[in-house]
Amino acid sequence: MSVETKNPQATQVLSERINRLAESATIAMAKKARELEAKGQAVIKLNFGEPDFQTPDHIKAAAKQAIDDGFTFYTPVSGYPQLRQAIADKLKRDNGLKWEAENIVVSTGAKQSLANVLMCLLNPGDEVVVFTPYWVTYREIIKVAEGKPVMVSGSLENNFKVTPEQLKAAITPKTKAILYSSPSNPTGSVYSKDELRALADVLKAHEDVFVIADEIYEYVIFQDEYVSMGAFEDMHDRVVTVNGFSKGFAMTGWRVGYLAAPTWLASACDKLQGQFTSGTCSIAQKAAYAAITGDLAPSHDMAKAYLRRRDLVLDLMKDIKGFKTYLPDGAFYIFPDVSYYYGKSDGENTINNSIDLCMYILNNAHVSLVPGEAFGADNCLRFSFAASDEDLKTAMQRIKTVLEKLN
Ligand code: PMP
Repeated sequence: MSVETKNPQATQVLSERINRLAESATIAMAKKARELEAKGQAVIKLNFGEPDFQTPDHIKAAAKQAIDDGFTFYTPVSGYPQLRQAIADKLKRDNGLKWEAENIVVSTGAKQSLANVLMCLLNPGDEVVVFTPYWVTYREIIKVAEGKPVMVSGSLENNFKVTPEQLKAAITPKTKAILYSSPSNPTGSVYSKDELRALADVLKAHEDVFVIADEIYEYVIFQDEYVSMGAFEDMHDRVVTVNGFSKGFAMTGWRVGYLAAPTWLASACDKLQGQFTSGTCSIAQKAAYAAITGDLAPSHDMAKAYLRRRDLVLDLMKDIKGFKTYLPDGAFYIFPDVSYYYGKSDGENTINNSIDLCMYILNNAHVSLVPGEAFGADNCLRFSFAASDEDLKTAMQRIKTVLEKLN
């Protein structure tokens, strides 16, 4: 017998804070896909935001060793000093950032790091300029922190990147921060050095505005150069860099992320985290240390595999009528414009938006995707190519077939 958990007055009983919060669309889609599977349908899941690779062996070995060595106690809130130092070294080596160990706060994932910094920076009504399409969680964390997300949309023609003119127009006296991911989830777009410089130039006139740079896909990149905005001398002290181990090292379940920030802000995040969650898992931190100080070849090999799959998917998408594509330079997503199908029908279902099209594809082609609406771009659908070649080929074929029925 199940315990009755539904309360008809739930929304009145629950806090305004939680009522404001939307359920993660990616999680909602996964739920629907599981329901279909329970009915015996084989669903190809291209809705996931995680690598389909195993965590590299040397990282797993470090975790096993940590257990045997007795690393089973509470950790310092901001992480083991050795790990924080290794992260500071990595940020110097890869990103040209000058932070020391005291500027690093290790967390249970980039998601928690983002929540930490937004909760620490925002007062009610403070605005955060969010580069759109955005990762679903940004908007919700800003809302929980009682801030106001201000969406600025990049166009597909510009690889979904926001221009300096757009940024300039979005900044008001209430702007506290700008927030973006590069490579981006959901588009895979990567800001070049020149593009970042041009955005930073706009911020010269707004010295009180912080930048929150989500670099979680840094190692999933299809070009040689990766640039962090914090590497610019004039920006260093007002860019909070968020990163983690989930994507580049295939460690989503280990829950380790981090942020790098000025000492006063890092200390505030430590204080918040100290009351909310404490330091992340001791064993996972030892694994993260092995990852960040170890051989990067497995990460590079994974990036090569994603690149090959990107090209495969792009090639297959060329055969699908009405899909507008572009070239993602990183991450493992592509976000085609599919609005060609809006207003069309198979006689039974009329497609009016990205949710309708996603559901139509899930129910008829048994492929799960995520509607663009969740990312602030209703004309698009997000496809993850963190899947096998075979699944990608079958999925695209099935999607092509069911879309041909829409007139
Ligand atoms: N930022 C972006 C852009 C992401 O896509 C994700 C994961 N989907 C995260 C942050 C969260 O990463 P983590 O697993 O480290 O919390």
